[in-house]
Amino acid sequence: MPHSLPSAPTTKAIAAAPKSPTQKALDKLGLKRDIDLALHLPLRYEDETRITKLRDAREGDTVQIEARVTDCEVSFRPRRQLIVTVDDGTDTCTLRFFSFYPSQQKMLAVGNRIRARGEVKGGFLGRTMLHPSFRIAGGDLPTALTPVYPTVAGLGQPVLRKEVLAGLARAELSDTFAPGDLSQINQQALWTLRQALSFLHHPTPDVSLDTLSDHSHPAWQRLKAEELLAQQLSQLQSRRARASLRAPVLAMVAPEVFSPANEPEQPVLLPLYTELVATLPFKLTAAQQRVCAEIARDLERPVPMHRLLQGDVGSGKTVVAALAAAICIDAGWQCALMAPTEILAEQHFRKMLGWLEPLGITTAWLTGNQKARERRAMLALIESGEAALVVGTHAVIQEKVEFKNLALAVIDEQHRFGVAQRLALRNKLTHDGMEPHMLMMTATPIPRTLAMSYYADLDVSTINELPPGRTPIITKVVNDARRDEVVERIHAQITQGRQVYWVCPLIEESEALDLSNATQTHAELQAALHGVVLTNGEAVQVGLLHSRMAADEKKAVMAAFKEGRMAVLVSTTVIEVGVDVPNASLMVIEHAERFGLSQLHQLRGRVGRGAAASACVLLYSTGDAPRLSEAARARLRAMAETNDGFEIARRDLDIRGPGEFLGARQSGDAMLRFADLDRDTELLEWARREAPMLLDQHPALAAKHVTRWLGGKSEFLKA
Ligand code: ADP
Ligand code: MG
Repeated sequence: MPHSLPSAPTTKAIAAAPKSPTQKALDKLGLKRDIDLALHLPLRYEDETRITKLRDAREGDTVQIEARVTDCEVSFRPRRQLIVTVDDGTDTCTLRFFSFYPSQQKMLAVGNRIRARGEVKGGFLGRTMLHPSFRIAGGDLPTALTPVYPTVAGLGQPVLRKEVLAGLARAELSDTFAPGDLSQINQQALWTLRQALSFLHHPTPDVSLDTLSDHSHPAWQRLKAEELLAQQLSQLQSRRARASLRAPVLAMVAPEVFSPANEPEQPVLLPLYTELVATLPFKLTAAQQRVCAEIARDLERPVPMHRLLQGDVGSGKTVVAALAAAICIDAGWQCALMAPTEILAEQHFRKMLGWLEPLGITTAWLTGNQKARERRAMLALIESGEAALVVGTHAVIQEKVEFKNLALAVIDEQHRFGVAQRLALRNKLTHDGMEPHMLMMTATPIPRTLAMSYYADLDVSTINELPPGRTPIITKVVNDARRDEVVERIHAQITQGRQVYWVCPLIEESEALDLSNATQTHAELQAALHGVVLTNGEAVQVGLLHSRMAADEKKAVMAAFKEGRMAVLVSTTVIEVGVDVPNASLMVIEHAERFGLSQLHQLRGRVGRGAAASACVLLYSTGDAPRLSEAARARLRAMAETNDGFEIARRDLDIRGPGEFLGARQSGDAMLRFADLDRDTELLEWARREAPMLLDQHPALAAKHVTRWLGGKSEFLKA
């Protein structure tokens, strides 16, 4: 199987070789092979090559001193501690320890000479060091800087250091590309892998520590180039592997086939695609037509499509998914549409029903919360092939689900699914060496450097225009102190027949707090809007939606809002993605400072979906602080300044950096450890040029390179 997940070790193997605590800790760090140890690079270095005179040590310096103990006593006030005074002939310093062993106390006896290392703090009573590391003075000073490695609990630096150096000594480090290959980028970066690694594990003291910590040193250049090359190679390999896979051919059927000329009395049957386009309540935008054509071209090839459809919030991706499904169904195959939340999946299901049921297509519905009977019925529809389309949450990829002939999987809001989930999906859907076509949709456009590195294996289609007739959303950033004015605004909107969202943040530390926040706001709005009568003569309804509610309750509230019976919906972020209620014209986001930028943009995209002028109010509160953090202000400013999802994504990347932008789930284990996509664009471009050359001209070296860097992890890059 080309895409099997790494299998779990068998219990037998574990019983045969009991692991030492060190081994377990190394496993936790992912340090299994010699090369893994060699590539486990220091976070920083400590300079133990020098002794500093106390006189020269300034506050805040981390220094190593050699001095004689002049006093050593245990004090009990304010708490038990060991207080040691040392003198090196130039000055004195107090060492404090809150925990200590008798053996340590003995080493610190008056009269002993010790070598201590720690950060110097000033203060009223002179210099102090808190918990310095120390030992008896004397012995050679090391000639190299001492590396400090990333580690886990239970694995101390000395043991880890020994393991890493042993791994480095054993590892096979012959070059997979010549040092000179990098000369276009950096004239001095002509290091071999072995040189670079030896240096970074124990650099000579004369090196500038800055060039090590900012990764600009030539040794780092070599490693970053290596890492980026591994990433590019792996992506290229999977792209090529995909080209050799087979997928069902889903060719568009020409209308003539449906209405044979020799049977003129027969009603004219159009292909589903054409019929759907004709019955839609709107005309497709040019951008939608273009991406549909791109998708159709992919689907008629016998190779699995792997396409990302990106388009701003509200740009109309769902109908594109329906049209892709129509092509698939026309060709006689099944299609699955998967969404990350139940609310969104349900909404898609209703939409698909509305569009496709009148055209005679049966759509099945799958979710984790389904009643057993309904579920069994749905599974039967899917297995028999009667349901040509299956919509649901990730329940769609559970084991029990047996498709008759699935050919296309559409994943909405793909960034919300984990890498492992996407892999599982592909594994699940692969039958007899035949893979389904995959269409992934996202409203978070991927900046170029990320697309070049993490998504190099994807083809991208972009919807770059919104459907006509939308008035741009006006965004206002408002201090929470002016909440009353916001309530007045709500009043004005709902008495004109419009609807309003009010979103409260998810407070991660405490679900209870999160809930009380939303319920409190709900009660507050209910009181403030009590007795207001709407244009339809009915009293205003204020609904509440949060993650702890049962699925049925959620559904009922959502339905009431959708049908316009409920004017105001207070919600935690469960409505975050994809909800579509065109009559909603005002979005209020409480504690907007706590939300991420792309999340704010997603939420704002819930309004401005109809022709009415819409607004988004970002309520912020500084809490006890005098002002908002720099990052929070940057986010709110970006929201106020632009409605363009691409611009928002660019600024988001600026504020957060690529690691956080992608998120751990998104990047899996494949996150770059050393290279920085913003700063290392040149190296990335180099790796992109180098990868195909290496793969074509020296396939054995390419394979060695990927194995060396990615080991068993390259699997994740294919998700
Ligand atoms: P998103 O891309 O955010 O998933 P949706 O697919 O939910 O956006 O579409 C947003 C709204 O725009 C929906 O109500 C949809 O029916 C409507 N829509 C989609 N395409 C068009 C179009 N070409 N003209 C007018 N309205 C459209
Ligand atoms: Mg959507």
